[in-house]
Amino acid sequence: TATTETRKFEAEVAQVLHLVTHSLYSHKEIFLRELISNASDACDKLRFESIAQPDLLAGEGELHIDVSFDAQARTVTVRDNGIGMSRDEVVANIGTIASSGTRRFLEAMSGEQKADARLIGQFGVGFYSAFVVADKVTVLTRRAGAPASEGVKWESDGKGEYSLEAAELAERGTTVILHLKADEDEFLKRWQLASLIRKYSDHVAFPIRMPVEKEGKPSDEWETVNDAGALWTKPKAEISDEDYQSFYKSLGHDFNDALAWTHNRVEGSQSFTTLLYLPSQPPFDLMMGGRDERKGLKLYIKRVFIMDAAEELLPNYLRFVRGVVDADDLPLNVSREILQQNRQLERIKGACVKRVLDLIEKLAKDEPEKFATFYKAFGNTLKEGIVEDASNRERIAKLLRFASTKGEGAKQTTSLDDYIGRMSLGQDTIWYITADSHAAAAGSPQLEAFKAKDIEVLLMSDRIDEWMLGSLNEYAGKKLRSVAKGEVPLDEADKKKQEEAAKAAEPLLKKLKDLLGDRVSDVKVSARLTDSPSCLALSDYEMAPHLARLLREAGH
Ligand code: ADP
Ligand code: MG
Repeated sequence: TATTETRKFEAEVAQVLHLVTHSLYSHKEIFLRELISNASDACDKLRFESIAQPDLLAGEGELHIDVSFDAQARTVTVRDNGIGMSRDEVVANIGTIASSGTRRFLEAMSGEQKADARLIGQFGVGFYSAFVVADKVTVLTRRAGAPASEGVKWESDGKGEYSLEAAELAERGTTVILHLKADEDEFLKRWQLASLIRKYSDHVAFPIRMPVEKEGKPSDEWETVNDAGALWTKPKAEISDEDYQSFYKSLGHDFNDALAWTHNRVEGSQSFTTLLYLPSQPPFDLMMGGRDERKGLKLYIKRVFIMDAAEELLPNYLRFVRGVVDADDLPLNVSREILQQNRQLERIKGACVKRVLDLIEKLAKDEPEKFATFYKAFGNTLKEGIVEDASNRERIAKLLRFASTKGEGAKQTTSLDDYIGRMSLGQDTIWYITADSHAAAAGSPQLEAFKAKDIEVLLMSDRIDEWMLGSLNEYAGKKLRSVAKGEVPLDEADKKKQEEAAKAAEPLLKKLKDLLGDRVSDVKVSARLTDSPSCLALSDYEMAPHLARLLREAGH
């Protein structure tokens, strides 16, 4: 007595379907990665829920994902015995935009940004990517714990409507059947599917199985085609660079290789494993100046996936890090609220920060090219740490690089240590200038006296610099000071010259002060300038002009 109901997709879904099918064409194979990733999430969720409710696992035993095809019917099928969905969940999850990744994709692709294939790989575009290769998709699903009669059949051609009906399903979990478009025969080959599984999903922690072929035909026997072990639990010596890279790709919706990684096991009163990666380019949102969604760092407890916990495990300024933390001693039933106050977790967080800073330091020391790539991508994000993480301020400052009057043009390659190494005898201050652009910093008349005296000045023009400098008053025992503030360092001869000049100019100074009135607090003879006749200067406690402007823009 199955009655079929037809519904319209939420307007945004129709939009995503259109965008995805048109812009993903050159990456159409990722539909398989997306469907397997959903199947794997469904198995994770069931394993997690079964901690409190063991009978959810009744029936089919081991959690797994099956991929098969039927050359006659021209279908590819991905099936999992994970959590499944109730009718309401089907409507909520695949009739609307459930996925944050999909929403961001929509925002990005419909904005100014043209569909750039390089960017697309960074989004989890999710379930709807099935319609890139299929002109009809059928989903059969039953929630774990629900009776066989509560199965649901969902079907759509991806054109704006879908149908729903009740279905009798013997097993829990979800089956997704793709009815391939006419020209997508390449996915009706076993080797093709198997190699895509190894390429994108090798490190999914559940077995991904395919039917064994006998005499050129799929049989009833299944074999596992992926690696399926939790990579981070293996001894380092058994893991190749390729393994690390392919695990990275399975984590982070990033088509590119990771730049570097650090894999550590801590044993003791509290045992845990961390596998942390630095990406080689910023994710889309970070690039656009927005906030990353803080995904990409997964918390496992004794190999059971618990949740995305980047916010709990990493400070904000390291939000670009991706990876896995697997703790042995946390209670499996932790909630996000408990996590936020858990002292063990604080210690794990501290260890993550230390490992990441160690890794970046190692790049700076041994792999300058990689470090340059890292710094270009994430240097400005790292600077937030100067303000955010007082306990690591000196370590972070050591990693920063700036343009300099003694550097190579606009290139940010001078470290504070380089600067100190070039200081003249008796110099106790690291001088810098901040401005809106490198050209404005490098061309400032404030630099004249420093140039004349051969004193190096760091040229800072990133938006975040002024804010960061508010928390960086000192490095390695040297003060950091702006050339726009206070007095220029003078030797005895200079001082004498200045005093004489000041005396000679007294009548002029008085006249200028009268003329300018309240608009200035003082008019002085200065040693700052050698070529320009005058410049504006700040006292020690005044705000730099462009910071004042930034604050005004922000409505302060
Ligand atoms: P995301 O995986 O990023 O949430 P998707 O578009 O891939 O976005 O999937 C949307 C939602 O549909 C999922 O969040 C999940 O709730 C549901 N879903 C998709 N596939 C499955 C599946 N195989 N089993 C259970 N739920 C699923
Ligand atoms: Mg998904």
